[in-house]
Amino acid sequence: MENAWRLFIGGAWVEAASGGWMAVANPATGEPVAEVPDGGPDDVRRAVEAAAEAFPHWAALPALERARVLLRLRDLMTEHRDDLARLITQENGKPFEEARREVAFATAYFGWFAEEARRVYGEIVPPPVPHKRLWVLRQPIGVVAAITPWNFPATMVTRKIAPALAAGCAVVLKPAGATPLTALMIGRLFAEAGGPPGVFNVVVGRRSAELGQAFLDHPAVRKIAFTGSTEVGKRLMAGAARSLKRVSFELGGNAPFIVFDDADLKAAAEGAVAIKFLRVAGQSCICANRVYVQETIADRFLPAFTERVRALRVAPGFEPDAQIGPLINDEILGKVAGLVEEAVAQGARVAAGGKRLTDGALGRGLFYAPTVLTGVREEMAVARDEIFGPVAPVMTFSTDDEVIARSNNTTFGLSAYFYTRDIRRAIRVAEALEYGMVGVNDPTGYTHEIPFGGMKESGLGREGGHQGIEEYMEIKSVSLSL
Ligand code: NAP
Repeated sequence: MENAWRLFIGGAWVEAASGGWMAVANPATGEPVAEVPDGGPDDVRRAVEAAAEAFPHWAALPALERARVLLRLRDLMTEHRDDLARLITQENGKPFEEARREVAFATAYFGWFAEEARRVYGEIVPPPVPHKRLWVLRQPIGVVAAITPWNFPATMVTRKIAPALAAGCAVVLKPAGATPLTALMIGRLFAEAGGPPGVFNVVVGRRSAELGQAFLDHPAVRKIAFTGSTEVGKRLMAGAARSLKRVSFELGGNAPFIVFDDADLKAAAEGAVAIKFLRVAGQSCICANRVYVQETIADRFLPAFTERVRALRVAPGFEPDAQIGPLINDEILGKVAGLVEEAVAQGARVAAGGKRLTDGALGRGLFYAPTVLTGVREEMAVARDEIFGPVAPVMTFSTDDEVIARSNNTTFGLSAYFYTRDIRRAIRVAEALEYGMVGVNDPTGYTHEIPFGGMKESGLGREGGHQGIEEYMEIKSVSLSL
């Protein structure tokens, strides 16, 4: 794979208008992986104009033809699964096997939305008077600006562009500055799949606020589809309000993971490890952020959980048995370490981990030990904030109503998990949790067929499911007088 990359604009590979470049580094080693153009607002404008030009033709194609391009892209991503996974491990740091699973998951969005493209139905509506006919159409919104984070460099991209392209929109993607390579590779495969020039464009660069502003300022951009922090989401929403651009947001989370006294404790301990630690070392929006254990079973659950956490293997992503890779940057490492230190100073106890790892090869990267904290209280920042790292704060509770109230007592509302063997409890708690996604005895159950997204300050709109394509459609009513 070559080391010098270009921006993908209007079907061509071009340098940044400014002529600037930026380095992409591997967070496991600090070493440079590649150079990419440092795109700026001029490049965004060029890309938006290319998309606006390509849009009418793409929108007018029968859905079946758009679907064919998406299915070829799916096949090419499948063929290049290992190449894409290698890029992800290089630029994001996550273990290679985890990256391979991500690529497979990300790729399947093209299959799902290629099928959904053919089912964007309109309606014929009974008119209130005899001499009229009424119908309702769904049409693509237009040019979409997609802004994505670094934690899932493939999935965050495909979950937006697959429905947008299927709907007939043209897209300009701005991936995170830390992980531009996977996105550019998807651009390359889009072209190889026969995607028309300008329908999908990728602009990368490190001046994210300026790039975002260029999207907000451009009248041809009809929608901003953003995944990232709640803080940046709010800023984009305020900017989008000026020209009433549509928005859909997938933002931060603070997921509770509840273990009730009747739970299968082994399954619960395994589930907690899977959803807390085994997704990008805890740097995922749907990671368990707070673990609540019913007090009567805490003595049995905690040792089982802690033992599994201690056994996790932290290593650079290309080591064959790596399970936990590095954190993405110094800022996140500092935040995670700071949350643990503060909690300990306030009385929490470290049951596992609790420190940065620097032995041997780990010393070159940003590795933090998988950590379990007990004796945590709600008012501690480690329980209130989104941790975004491999730290599990554990708290106990006594009643169902109490844990539901404590779980809901947050501005976030993305995902929640609980374990119980009582079906009445399962239904009652699933309905009471104010979260967009709830896993019952199933912490990794999210899949393409169901909508992904959050309530409250965790987001607006949904991705995936049959709902995902609606986010990229306008509704038009037509009234015909006979
Ligand atoms: P972030 O700082 O908000 O960045 C997300 C994206 O926005 C990146 O492409 C970033 O570019 C860009 N960006 C940053 N500031 C911007 C601005 N002023 N205008 C326009 N774009 C801007 O978030 P992050 O720290 O990378 O990602 C972690 C956050 O994403 C967490 O809160 C996590 O929960 C959330 N997340 C949510 C979901 C979900 O589906 N709900 C999924 C994954 C992650 P640069 O990185 O180059 O600055």
